[in-house]
Amino acid sequence: MTRDDPAAAAHGNVVVIGAGIVGAAIALELRKRGHGVVLVDRDEPGRGTSFGNSGAISPGSVAPLALPGVLASVPRMLLDGRSPLRVPLRYLPRALPWLARFVASAAPGTVAASAARLAALHADAVARHVALAREAGVPELVVTRGHLHLYRDAAALAKDATAWNLRRQYGVVAQQLDRDGIAALEPGVDVRYQVGMFLPDHATVRNPFRYVQAIVRRFVDTGGRLRRAEAASLSPSPEGWRVVTSDGPLACNAVVVAAGAWSRRLLDAQGLVLPLETQRGYHVEFDGEAPISRTVVLTDRKAFVTPMETGLRIGGTVEIGGLVAPPDWRRADALADAARDAFPGWRAAPVRRWMGHRPCLPDSVPFIGAVPGTRGLFAAVGHGHLGLTDAPATAQRIAEAVDAGRQAATMPP
Ligand SMILES: Cc1cc2nc3c(=O)[nH]c(=O)nc-3n(C[C@H](O)[C@H](O)[C@H](O)COP(=O)(O)OP(=O)(O)OC[C@H]3O[C@@H](n4cnc5c(N)ncnc54)[C@H](O)[C@@H]3O)c2cc1C
Repeated sequence: MTRDDPAAAAHGNVVVIGAGIVGAAIALELRKRGHGVVLVDRDEPGRGTSFGNSGAISPGSVAPLALPGVLASVPRMLLDGRSPLRVPLRYLPRALPWLARFVASAAPGTVAASAARLAALHADAVARHVALAREAGVPELVVTRGHLHLYRDAAALAKDATAWNLRRQYGVVAQQLDRDGIAALEPGVDVRYQVGMFLPDHATVRNPFRYVQAIVRRFVDTGGRLRRAEAASLSPSPEGWRVVTSDGPLACNAVVVAAGAWSRRLLDAQGLVLPLETQRGYHVEFDGEAPISRTVVLTDRKAFVTPMETGLRIGGTVEIGGLVAPPDWRRADALADAARDAFPGWRAAPVRRWMGHRPCLPDSVPFIGAVPGTRGLFAAVGHGHLGLTDAPATAQRIAEAVDAGRQAATMPP
Protein backbone atom coordinates (compact mmCIF):
# COMPACT_ATOMS: atom_id res chain seq x y z
CA MET A 1 0.00 0.00 0.00
CA THR A 2 1.38 3.36 -0.95
CA ARG A 3 -1.12 5.51 -2.83
CA ASP A 4 -4.90 4.90 -2.61
CA ASP A 5 -4.81 1.14 -2.91
CA PRO A 6 -8.09 -0.65 -2.03
CA ALA A 7 -6.59 -4.14 -2.37
CA ALA A 8 -3.93 -3.41 0.21
CA ALA A 9 -6.43 -1.66 2.44
CA ALA A 10 -8.35 -4.92 2.74
CA HIS A 11 -5.43 -6.44 4.66
CA GLY A 12 -5.78 -4.29 7.70
CA ASN A 13 -3.22 -1.67 6.79
CA VAL A 14 -1.99 0.96 9.15
CA VAL A 15 -0.27 4.28 8.49
CA VAL A 16 2.02 5.44 11.29
CA ILE A 17 2.88 9.15 11.13
CA GLY A 18 6.26 10.01 12.66
CA ALA A 19 9.45 7.95 12.63
CA GLY A 20 10.91 9.04 15.96
CA ILE A 21 11.59 6.40 18.57
CA VAL A 22 7.87 6.20 19.40
CA GLY A 23 6.59 5.79 15.82
CA ALA A 24 9.47 3.47 14.87
CA ALA A 25 8.77 1.12 17.80
CA ILE A 26 5.04 1.15 17.00
CA ALA A 27 5.59 0.44 13.30
CA LEU A 28 7.82 -2.56 14.03
CA GLU A 29 5.42 -3.97 16.63
CA LEU A 30 2.44 -3.66 14.26
CA ARG A 31 4.45 -5.28 11.47
CA LYS A 32 5.36 -8.20 13.74
CA ARG A 33 1.66 -8.72 14.39
CA GLY A 34 1.01 -9.09 10.68
CA HIS A 35 -0.27 -5.64 9.75
CA GLY A 36 0.69 -4.02 6.49
CA VAL A 37 2.34 -0.82 7.74
CA VAL A 38 3.50 2.40 6.11
CA LEU A 39 5.70 4.59 8.29
CA VAL A 40 5.58 8.21 7.15
CA ASP A 41 8.08 10.90 8.08
CA ARG A 42 8.97 14.16 6.39
CA ASP A 43 12.55 13.68 7.51
CA GLU A 44 15.08 10.89 7.91
CA PRO A 45 13.91 8.47 10.68
CA GLY A 46 15.20 9.48 14.10
CA ARG A 47 16.15 13.05 13.07
CA GLY A 48 13.54 14.68 15.36
CA THR A 49 13.71 14.85 19.14
CA SER A 50 14.75 11.21 19.27
CA PHE A 51 18.07 12.16 17.68
CA GLY A 52 19.56 14.06 20.54
CA ASN A 53 18.19 12.75 23.81
CA SER A 54 20.36 11.64 26.70
CA GLY A 55 19.82 7.94 26.08
CA ALA A 56 18.61 7.26 29.60
CA ILE A 57 16.22 4.35 30.14
CA SER A 58 14.74 5.56 33.41
CA PRO A 59 11.98 3.32 34.76
CA GLY A 60 12.45 4.98 38.16
CA SER A 61 11.27 8.37 36.88
CA VAL A 62 7.77 7.98 38.25
CA ALA A 63 7.55 11.55 39.59
CA PRO A 64 5.84 13.91 37.15
CA LEU A 65 7.63 17.19 36.42
CA ALA A 66 5.08 19.36 38.21
CA LEU A 67 5.55 18.66 41.90
CA PRO A 68 4.34 20.66 44.92
CA GLY A 69 6.46 23.83 45.17
CA VAL A 70 6.82 24.26 41.39
CA LEU A 71 5.38 27.81 41.59
CA ALA A 72 8.44 28.96 43.55
CA SER A 73 10.68 28.30 40.53
CA VAL A 74 8.65 30.55 38.20
CA PRO A 75 10.45 33.92 38.82
CA ARG A 76 13.87 32.42 37.95
CA MET A 77 12.32 30.68 34.91
CA LEU A 78 11.32 34.07 33.54
CA LEU A 79 14.33 36.17 34.41
CA ASP A 80 17.48 34.03 34.17
CA GLY A 81 18.61 33.13 30.61
CA ARG A 82 20.83 30.30 31.85
CA SER A 83 18.34 28.85 34.37
CA PRO A 84 17.67 25.10 33.82
CA LEU A 85 13.96 25.99 33.49
CA ARG A 86 13.18 28.93 31.25
CA VAL A 87 10.23 30.69 29.65
CA PRO A 88 11.40 33.53 27.34
CA LEU A 89 9.25 36.61 27.99
CA ARG A 90 8.21 36.88 24.31
CA TYR A 91 6.64 33.41 24.51
CA LEU A 92 5.02 33.94 27.94
CA PRO A 93 1.54 34.94 26.64
CA ARG A 94 1.42 31.77 24.50
CA ALA A 95 2.76 29.61 27.34
CA LEU A 96 0.50 30.92 30.11
CA PRO A 97 -2.51 28.60 29.65
CA TRP A 98 -0.18 25.57 29.54
CA LEU A 99 1.80 26.83 32.55
CA ALA A 100 -1.44 27.26 34.51
CA ARG A 101 -2.36 23.63 33.82
CA PHE A 102 1.19 22.56 34.67
CA VAL A 103 1.04 24.30 38.06
CA ALA A 104 -2.43 22.83 38.70
CA SER A 105 -0.99 19.36 38.01
CA ALA A 106 1.23 19.78 41.06
CA ALA A 107 -1.79 19.13 43.33
CA PRO A 108 -0.99 16.08 45.50
CA GLY A 109 -3.89 13.99 44.14
CA THR A 110 -2.87 14.62 40.52
CA VAL A 111 0.78 13.87 41.30
CA ALA A 112 -0.18 10.53 42.89
CA ALA A 113 -2.40 9.58 39.94
CA SER A 114 0.27 10.55 37.39
CA ALA A 115 2.96 8.63 39.27
CA ALA A 116 0.81 5.48 39.23
CA ARG A 117 0.26 5.79 35.48
CA LEU A 118 3.91 6.50 34.77
CA ALA A 119 5.04 3.55 36.92
CA ALA A 120 2.74 1.23 34.99
CA LEU A 121 4.06 2.53 31.65
CA HIS A 122 7.73 2.30 32.73
CA ALA A 123 7.41 -1.31 33.94
CA ASP A 124 10.05 -3.60 32.40
CA ALA A 125 11.47 -0.73 30.33
CA VAL A 126 15.05 -2.01 30.51
CA ALA A 127 14.12 -5.59 29.58
CA ARG A 128 11.97 -4.30 26.72
CA HIS A 129 14.84 -2.23 25.32
CA VAL A 130 17.32 -5.09 25.67
CA ALA A 131 14.93 -7.25 23.63
CA LEU A 132 14.22 -4.51 21.06
CA ALA A 133 17.91 -3.72 20.54
CA ARG A 134 18.64 -7.41 20.05
CA GLU A 135 15.82 -7.72 17.56
CA ALA A 136 17.06 -4.65 15.68
CA GLY A 137 20.54 -6.17 15.48
CA VAL A 138 22.18 -3.58 17.77
CA PRO A 139 22.40 -5.24 21.21
CA GLU A 140 25.61 -3.30 21.93
CA LEU A 141 23.67 -0.03 22.10
CA VAL A 142 21.91 -0.80 25.41
CA VAL A 143 24.27 -0.81 28.38
CA THR A 144 23.10 -1.78 31.86
CA ARG A 145 25.52 0.00 34.19
CA GLY A 146 22.95 1.98 36.17
CA HIS A 147 22.57 5.74 36.65
CA LEU A 148 24.34 7.86 39.26
CA HIS A 149 22.53 11.00 40.50
CA LEU A 150 24.91 13.52 42.09
CA TYR A 151 24.10 16.05 44.85
CA ARG A 152 26.32 18.62 46.47
CA ASP A 153 25.18 17.68 49.98
CA ALA A 154 22.46 16.06 52.05
CA ALA A 155 20.43 19.28 52.10
CA ALA A 156 20.27 19.29 48.28
CA LEU A 157 19.17 15.65 48.29
CA ALA A 158 16.48 16.47 50.87
CA LYS A 159 14.98 19.02 48.44
CA ASP A 160 14.25 16.14 46.05
CA ALA A 161 12.61 14.03 48.79
CA THR A 162 9.19 13.94 47.06
CA ALA A 163 10.63 12.32 43.92
CA TRP A 164 12.79 9.83 45.84
CA ASN A 165 9.87 8.88 48.11
CA LEU A 166 7.73 8.22 45.06
CA ARG A 167 10.48 6.04 43.57
CA ARG A 168 10.69 4.10 46.84
CA GLN A 169 6.91 3.68 46.89
CA TYR A 170 7.11 2.00 43.48
CA GLY A 171 9.94 -0.31 44.47
CA VAL A 172 12.74 1.42 42.57
CA VAL A 173 16.10 0.26 43.90
CA ALA A 174 18.31 3.24 44.88
CA GLN A 175 21.48 3.15 46.96
CA GLN A 176 22.65 6.29 48.77
CA LEU A 177 26.41 6.87 48.42
CA ASP A 178 28.87 9.08 50.27
CA ARG A 179 31.86 10.75 48.64
CA ASP A 180 33.93 7.55 48.73
CA GLY A 181 31.07 5.62 47.15
CA ILE A 182 30.85 8.16 44.32
CA ALA A 183 34.60 8.03 43.75
CA ALA A 184 34.56 4.22 43.71
CA LEU A 185 32.02 4.24 40.86
CA GLU A 186 33.16 7.33 38.98
CA PRO A 187 36.58 8.65 40.04
CA GLY A 188 36.43 11.54 37.52
CA VAL A 189 33.58 13.35 39.35
CA ASP A 190 34.43 16.62 41.12
CA VAL A 191 34.69 16.60 44.91
CA ARG A 192 31.94 19.21 45.18
CA TYR A 193 29.48 16.35 44.73
CA GLN A 194 29.36 14.75 48.16
CA VAL A 195 26.19 12.64 47.98
CA GLY A 196 25.08 10.19 45.32
CA MET A 197 22.03 8.10 44.58
CA PHE A 198 22.84 5.05 42.49
CA LEU A 199 20.09 3.32 40.49
CA PRO A 200 21.70 0.00 39.52
CA ASP A 201 18.73 -1.25 37.47
CA HIS A 202 18.72 1.64 35.00
CA ALA A 203 20.26 1.57 31.55
CA THR A 204 21.50 3.73 28.70
CA VAL A 205 21.20 3.75 24.91
CA ARG A 206 24.65 4.76 23.66
CA ASN A 207 23.43 6.21 20.36
CA PRO A 208 19.73 7.11 20.25
CA PHE A 209 19.84 8.04 16.55
CA ARG A 210 21.48 4.80 15.44
CA TYR A 211 18.94 2.95 17.60
CA VAL A 212 15.95 4.45 15.75
CA GLN A 213 17.63 3.81 12.42
CA ALA A 214 18.24 0.16 13.32
CA ILE A 215 14.60 -0.31 14.41
CA VAL A 216 13.36 1.22 11.15
CA ARG A 217 15.77 -0.94 9.13
CA ARG A 218 14.38 -4.02 10.86
CA PHE A 219 10.85 -2.79 10.12
CA VAL A 220 11.70 -2.43 6.42
CA ASP A 221 13.51 -5.80 6.33
CA THR A 222 10.34 -7.46 7.60
CA GLY A 223 8.20 -5.93 4.86
CA GLY A 224 7.25 -2.57 6.35
CA ARG A 225 7.21 0.43 4.06
CA LEU A 226 8.91 3.73 4.78
CA ARG A 227 7.71 6.86 3.02
CA ARG A 228 9.43 10.23 3.17
CA ALA A 229 6.57 12.73 3.09
CA GLU A 230 4.81 15.34 5.17
CA ALA A 231 1.38 14.24 6.40
CA ALA A 232 -0.84 17.25 5.82
CA SER A 233 -4.27 16.02 6.94
CA LEU A 234 -6.41 13.01 7.83
CA SER A 235 -10.00 12.28 7.07
CA PRO A 236 -12.31 9.32 7.59
CA SER A 237 -13.22 7.43 4.43
CA PRO A 238 -15.56 4.50 3.67
CA GLU A 239 -12.62 2.05 4.00
CA GLY A 240 -11.16 3.64 7.08
CA TRP A 241 -8.89 6.65 6.69
CA ARG A 242 -7.34 8.80 4.03
CA VAL A 243 -4.03 10.48 4.81
CA VAL A 244 -3.08 13.35 2.53
CA THR A 245 0.69 13.62 2.24
CA SER A 246 3.11 15.75 0.24
CA ASP A 247 3.68 12.62 -1.85
CA GLY A 248 0.05 11.83 -2.55
CA PRO A 249 -2.82 10.30 -0.55
CA LEU A 250 -2.70 7.01 1.39
CA ALA A 251 -5.72 4.83 2.05
CA CYS A 252 -5.69 2.66 5.14
CA ASN A 253 -7.81 1.03 7.80
CA ALA A 254 -6.12 2.73 10.71
CA VAL A 255 -3.84 5.67 11.43
CA VAL A 256 -1.45 6.14 14.34
CA VAL A 257 -0.30 9.70 14.97
CA ALA A 258 3.15 9.65 16.60
CA ALA A 259 4.46 12.97 15.33
CA GLY A 260 5.92 14.12 18.63
CA ALA A 261 5.67 17.84 19.40
CA TRP A 262 4.12 18.45 15.96
CA SER A 263 1.10 16.19 16.49
CA ARG A 264 -1.50 18.83 17.26
CA ARG A 265 -1.97 19.96 13.68
CA LEU A 266 -3.18 16.46 12.77
CA LEU A 267 -5.15 15.68 15.92
CA ASP A 268 -6.97 18.95 16.65
CA ALA A 269 -8.99 18.55 13.46
CA GLN A 270 -10.16 15.11 14.64
CA GLY A 271 -11.42 16.47 17.95
CA LEU A 272 -8.51 15.41 20.14
CA VAL A 273 -7.23 18.77 21.40
CA LEU A 274 -4.32 17.90 23.66
CA PRO A 275 -2.59 20.57 25.78
CA LEU A 276 0.68 19.74 24.05
CA GLU A 277 3.61 22.12 24.48
CA THR A 278 7.24 21.78 23.46
CA GLN A 279 9.85 21.83 26.19
CA ARG A 280 12.93 22.61 24.18
CA GLY A 281 16.04 20.84 25.38
CA TYR A 282 19.68 21.10 24.34
CA HIS A 283 22.76 18.97 24.21
CA VAL A 284 26.47 19.52 23.73
CA GLU A 285 28.83 16.78 22.66
CA PHE A 286 32.57 16.53 23.28
CA ASP A 287 35.07 14.39 21.38
CA GLY A 288 37.72 12.37 23.12
CA GLU A 289 37.78 9.99 26.05
CA ALA A 290 34.82 10.29 28.45
CA PRO A 291 35.57 11.01 32.12
CA ILE A 292 32.73 8.69 33.22
CA SER A 293 31.61 5.16 32.39
CA ARG A 294 27.85 5.41 32.90
CA THR A 295 24.97 7.94 32.88
CA VAL A 296 25.56 10.57 35.54
CA VAL A 297 22.94 13.14 36.56
CA LEU A 298 24.11 16.57 37.74
CA THR A 299 21.02 17.35 39.78
CA ASP A 300 22.09 20.94 40.51
CA ARG A 301 22.25 21.65 36.75
CA LYS A 302 19.31 19.39 35.84
CA ALA A 303 21.58 17.74 33.28
CA PHE A 304 22.30 14.18 32.20
CA VAL A 305 25.85 13.33 31.16
CA THR A 306 26.24 10.25 28.98
CA PRO A 307 29.23 8.49 27.47
CA MET A 308 27.80 8.06 23.96
CA GLU A 309 29.34 6.23 21.00
CA THR A 310 29.69 9.66 19.42
CA GLY A 311 31.38 11.39 22.39
CA LEU A 312 30.45 12.65 25.83
CA ARG A 313 26.98 14.19 25.68
CA ILE A 314 25.54 16.55 28.26
CA GLY A 315 21.83 17.11 27.74
CA GLY A 316 19.04 18.85 29.56
CA THR A 317 17.39 22.16 30.37
CA VAL A 318 13.77 23.05 29.74
CA GLU A 319 12.84 26.05 27.61
CA ILE A 320 9.18 26.67 26.93
CA GLY A 321 9.68 28.71 23.78
CA GLY A 322 7.55 27.15 21.03
CA LEU A 323 8.28 25.23 17.85
CA VAL A 324 9.35 28.12 15.65
CA ALA A 325 11.93 30.34 17.41
CA PRO A 326 15.62 29.65 16.69
CA PRO A 327 17.70 27.93 19.38
CA ASP A 328 19.09 30.04 22.21
CA TRP A 329 22.62 28.63 22.24
CA ARG A 330 23.39 30.27 25.58
CA ARG A 331 21.51 27.36 27.08
CA ALA A 332 23.78 24.82 25.38
CA ASP A 333 26.82 26.81 26.45
CA ALA A 334 25.62 26.67 30.06
CA LEU A 335 25.47 22.87 29.73
CA ALA A 336 29.02 22.78 28.38
CA ASP A 337 30.19 24.81 31.39
CA ALA A 338 28.38 22.38 33.70
CA ALA A 339 30.25 19.44 32.15
CA ARG A 340 33.63 21.16 32.55
CA ASP A 341 32.84 21.99 36.21
CA ALA A 342 31.78 18.44 37.02
CA PHE A 343 34.94 16.71 35.78
CA PRO A 344 38.08 18.56 36.86
CA GLY A 345 41.16 17.94 34.75
CA TRP A 346 39.06 16.85 31.78
CA ARG A 347 39.83 19.23 28.94
CA ALA A 348 37.86 18.16 25.84
CA ALA A 349 36.43 20.81 23.54
CA PRO A 350 32.75 20.80 22.55
CA VAL A 351 32.21 19.70 18.96
CA ARG A 352 28.44 19.68 18.48
CA ARG A 353 25.39 21.56 19.80
CA TRP A 354 21.79 20.49 19.28
CA MET A 355 18.28 21.58 20.25
CA GLY A 356 15.15 19.38 20.22
CA HIS A 357 11.46 19.51 21.15
CA ARG A 358 10.15 17.34 23.97
CA PRO A 359 6.41 16.79 23.41
CA CYS A 360 4.96 17.62 26.84
CA LEU A 361 1.56 17.41 28.49
CA PRO A 362 1.01 19.28 31.78
CA ASP A 363 0.75 16.17 33.98
CA SER A 364 3.73 14.40 32.27
CA VAL A 365 1.55 11.42 31.25
CA PRO A 366 1.41 10.71 27.49
CA PHE A 367 -1.78 10.05 25.56
CA ILE A 368 -1.58 6.49 24.19
CA GLY A 369 -4.57 4.82 22.57
CA ALA A 370 -7.68 5.27 20.46
CA VAL A 371 -8.86 8.80 19.77
CA PRO A 372 -12.29 9.06 21.40
CA GLY A 373 -15.22 9.32 19.03
CA THR A 374 -13.34 7.86 16.08
CA ARG A 375 -12.85 4.38 14.69
CA GLY A 376 -9.35 3.40 13.59
CA LEU A 377 -7.55 6.56 14.72
CA PHE A 378 -4.89 6.24 17.41
CA ALA A 379 -2.39 8.59 18.99
CA ALA A 380 0.87 8.10 20.88
CA VAL A 381 1.79 11.61 21.89
CA GLY A 382 3.24 13.60 24.79
CA HIS A 383 6.07 11.42 26.06
CA GLY A 384 7.91 14.48 27.35
CA HIS A 385 11.20 13.66 29.05
CA LEU A 386 10.72 9.90 28.80
CA GLY A 387 9.89 9.04 25.21
CA LEU A 388 12.89 6.81 24.77
CA THR A 389 12.21 4.96 28.01
CA ASP A 390 8.56 4.38 27.17
CA ALA A 391 8.65 3.69 23.42
CA PRO A 392 8.50 -0.14 23.60
CA ALA A 393 5.63 -0.17 26.13
CA THR A 394 3.81 2.45 24.04
CA ALA A 395 4.23 0.24 20.97
CA GLN A 396 2.66 -2.69 22.77
CA ARG A 397 -0.30 -0.61 23.99
CA ILE A 398 -0.96 0.88 20.56
CA ALA A 399 -0.66 -2.50 18.82
CA GLU A 400 -3.11 -4.02 21.30
CA ALA A 401 -5.53 -1.14 20.71
CA VAL A 402 -5.25 -1.51 16.92
CA ASP A 403 -5.82 -5.28 17.17
CA ALA A 404 -8.80 -4.75 19.47
CA GLY A 405 -10.27 -2.21 17.04
CA ARG A 406 -9.83 -4.59 14.12
CA GLN A 407 -11.54 -7.41 16.00
CA ALA A 408 -14.42 -5.14 16.97
CA ALA A 409 -14.79 -4.06 13.32
CA THR A 410 -14.91 -7.63 12.01
CA MET A 411 -17.04 -9.15 14.74
CA PRO A 412 -20.66 -9.90 13.79
CA PRO A 413 -23.08 -7.49 15.46
C1 LIG B 1 17.73 17.19 25.63
C2 LIG B 1 16.79 16.02 25.72
C3 LIG B 1 17.16 14.92 26.47
C4 LIG B 1 16.30 13.82 26.59
N1 LIG B 1 16.70 12.72 27.28
C5 LIG B 1 15.89 11.64 27.38
C6 LIG B 1 16.33 10.47 28.05
O1 LIG B 1 17.46 10.41 28.51
N2 LIG B 1 15.47 9.42 28.16
C7 LIG B 1 14.21 9.46 27.62
O2 LIG B 1 13.48 8.48 27.79
N3 LIG B 1 13.78 10.53 26.92
C8 LIG B 1 14.59 11.62 26.80
N4 LIG B 1 14.17 12.74 26.12
C9 LIG B 1 12.82 12.76 25.56
C10 LIG B 1 12.73 11.98 24.25
O3 LIG B 1 13.78 12.34 23.39
C11 LIG B 1 11.38 12.27 23.59
O4 LIG B 1 10.33 12.03 24.49
C12 LIG B 1 11.20 11.39 22.37
O5 LIG B 1 12.28 11.55 21.48
C13 LIG B 1 9.89 11.68 21.66
O6 LIG B 1 9.82 10.79 20.57
P1 LIG B 1 8.73 10.96 19.46
O7 LIG B 1 8.93 9.81 18.53
O8 LIG B 1 7.39 11.16 20.09
O9 LIG B 1 9.08 12.35 18.76
P2 LIG B 1 10.24 12.74 17.65
O10 LIG B 1 11.49 12.01 17.89
O11 LIG B 1 10.28 14.22 17.65
O12 LIG B 1 9.62 12.18 16.32
C14 LIG B 1 8.50 12.79 15.69
C15 LIG B 1 8.70 12.59 14.21
O13 LIG B 1 7.51 13.02 13.55
C16 LIG B 1 7.90 13.64 12.33
N5 LIG B 1 6.77 14.48 11.93
C17 LIG B 1 6.21 15.48 12.65
N6 LIG B 1 5.15 15.98 11.98
C18 LIG B 1 5.06 15.27 10.83
C19 LIG B 1 4.17 15.33 9.72
N7 LIG B 1 3.12 16.20 9.67
N8 LIG B 1 4.37 14.48 8.69
C20 LIG B 1 5.41 13.59 8.70
N9 LIG B 1 6.27 13.51 9.74
C21 LIG B 1 6.08 14.34 10.78
C22 LIG B 1 9.18 14.38 12.67
O14 LIG B 1 9.96 14.62 11.50
C23 LIG B 1 9.84 13.42 13.64
O15 LIG B 1 10.75 12.55 12.99
C24 LIG B 1 15.02 13.85 25.97
C25 LIG B 1 14.67 14.96 25.19
C26 LIG B 1 15.55 16.03 25.05
C27 LIG B 1 15.16 17.18 24.19
